[in-house]
Amino acid sequence: MENNNIRKLTQFVPALILIAFVVGGLLLFTWNSADEKKMEYSELVATFKADKVSEFELNLTNGELNYKLRGEEKKTYSYKVPDVTIFYNDVHEYILTYNENHPDAAVVFNYKPGSSGSWFLSLLPTLLFILILGGFMFVMMRRMNQSISSENNRSISFGKARIRSGSDRGKKVTFDDVAGADEEKEELTEIVEFLKDPKKYADLGARIPKGVLLVGPPGTGKTLLAKAVAGEADVPFLSISGSDFLEMYVGVGASRVRDLFSQAKKNAPAIIFIDEIDAVGRHRGTGIGGGHDEREQTLNQMLVEMDGFVENEGVIVIAATNRPDILDPALLRPGRFDRQVTVGLPDIKGREEILKVHARNKSLAPGVSLADIARSTVGFTGADLENLLNEAALLAVRRGLHAITMKEIEEATLKVVVGSEKRSHKITDKEKRTTAFHEAGHALATYYLEGQDPVHQVSIIPRGMAAGFTMHLPTEDKMTLSKKYMEDQLVVLLGGRVAEKIVFDDITTGASNDIQRASELARSMVTKYGFSDKLGPISFGGDDHEVFLGMEYGKVKNYSEEIAKNIDEEVNRIIMRAYHRCIEILTTHRDKLDQLALYLIDHEKIDGTDFTKLMEAEA
Ligand code: ADP
Ligand code: MG
Ligand code: ZN
Repeated sequence: MENNNIRKLTQFVPALILIAFVVGGLLLFTWNSADEKKMEYSELVATFKADKVSEFELNLTNGELNYKLRGEEKKTYSYKVPDVTIFYNDVHEYILTYNENHPDAAVVFNYKPGSSGSWFLSLLPTLLFILILGGFMFVMMRRMNQSISSENNRSISFGKARIRSGSDRGKKVTFDDVAGADEEKEELTEIVEFLKDPKKYADLGARIPKGVLLVGPPGTGKTLLAKAVAGEADVPFLSISGSDFLEMYVGVGASRVRDLFSQAKKNAPAIIFIDEIDAVGRHRGTGIGGGHDEREQTLNQMLVEMDGFVENEGVIVIAATNRPDILDPALLRPGRFDRQVTVGLPDIKGREEILKVHARNKSLAPGVSLADIARSTVGFTGADLENLLNEAALLAVRRGLHAITMKEIEEATLKVVVGSEKRSHKITDKEKRTTAFHEAGHALATYYLEGQDPVHQVSIIPRGMAAGFTMHLPTEDKMTLSKKYMEDQLVVLLGGRVAEKIVFDDITTGASNDIQRASELARSMVTKYGFSDKLGPISFGGDDHEVFLGMEYGKVKNYSEEIAKNIDEEVNRIIMRAYHRCIEILTTHRDKLDQLALYLIDHEKIDGTDFTKLMEAEA
């Protein structure tokens, strides 16, 4: 059907009617007043001022004036007053004083609203105009509200924030609905406790953050967590999405922010949830055309509001983003979103728990093992897993089955993987194995080298561009680094590559970042810190910064080709020395390397304590 075209046409109808009436009204006006201008308006007023008028009648709606002059009582003159209000102002003062002074011969002032026909006719254009304008605005508001409220249709009105209470709609979300995210939940319990009893915190003078930023990839349950905080504390949940603001007209975004905060304060304790805050909170002054005025206004209003409310007032702003790097630094200043909670991809245990949550209302065939599904879905988010089970259920229905079997699960997994463009491929068992040994290599090198920061966590869950990561926890802040420390660091950086080489006798591109960092470090050791015995304590190259970033262009070269060759040789020597030290460590402790890698394949993640236990265990 041509539905869309028809709708487009009907949008123009009000505008057409409007134009018709404006033109018609103008014609009517000029035609009406055309033949009555016998006298200038000023002459008329002068007549009144000169006490010549004994009686007059004014039609307040169309300005028709009939008057009688003193001494000529039988004759009625008429005049069309261009503007009734002006005329009234011009003459009423005079009439009042005259009448006070001549109670016997007062000017008789009659006014009439006009005959119903002419009154209605003359008002018709105005009335219709107002009606049409009203209709126009109504339609616009409806459309705006529709675009604003995607998940909740109970929007209040234009310029107003949506409010949704945590205990609303019968089913409230609690921490039980958020599976696997134990660390995240733990970090948020303090907020829940505060919202339950803000006074307790205020009395003790404890400072609670005004804003919490949930950072993580889409689908990891940020919105769910925010709702669960509201549900746990049983407080209202006021939500808006940053992208909503972008569709708004100038000034509306800022006024919505104002409204959002004032509603929250009224309903305190309460949670304000700003989804996709990066849409408004982007670094100011960036973007095409030097920035988005509306967005900036909205952001400024947000900052003003956050500074405006006092701590412990009972309002907490939770915002979610997957791009914390592009946020305006002003947002991250103390007293704003100074608390960050990272919501990561779930590990194998987390995935199994999420699957359990979403399998609650589905019938699974006896052969289906959620643990197996969890094992084969590295890198899946909570949303992906929910989607997977749903797709499997749909397939089962289509096939007329009574329960979901492993076959549907497998097909659904494939569909989810293909469907989400973010993941280019499903992680195969082989890749998982490679990553496990790679990360185990880094961790082992760290463990067996003295003076390196202890391992805090090893994970083979993909994060950003990296397949896995080994996290170190610095025990102390280091102002200066020793030569030995840097040499050891090189060994750690090469640990991934060396492990791959030893175990598989093959190497992958997964270590490219490690190699790059190792090369930069080794080069700095030679050219910047003067750590090379052969070249001595001399700094080579111009700007340190540029050398450090590995950028060759624009660098002032203050050394000869001969020295350049020597530098390259030294860098090479330092790297190869580290490489061989690493091979020695990993081959000596090959048993531990295997144990750790196998643990990682099973659990995907190991924390510092378990790591140390595993390392110290007798073989
Ligand atoms: P985000 O806001 O991070 O993009 P959402 O909170 O919107 O993610 O999550 C989308 C859906 O994925 C949720 O409605 C929920 O069904 C599911 N989901 C995500 N994480 C979890 C989790 N930890 N436990 C249970 N379900 C989850
Ligand atoms: Mg969300
Ligand atoms: Zn690595």
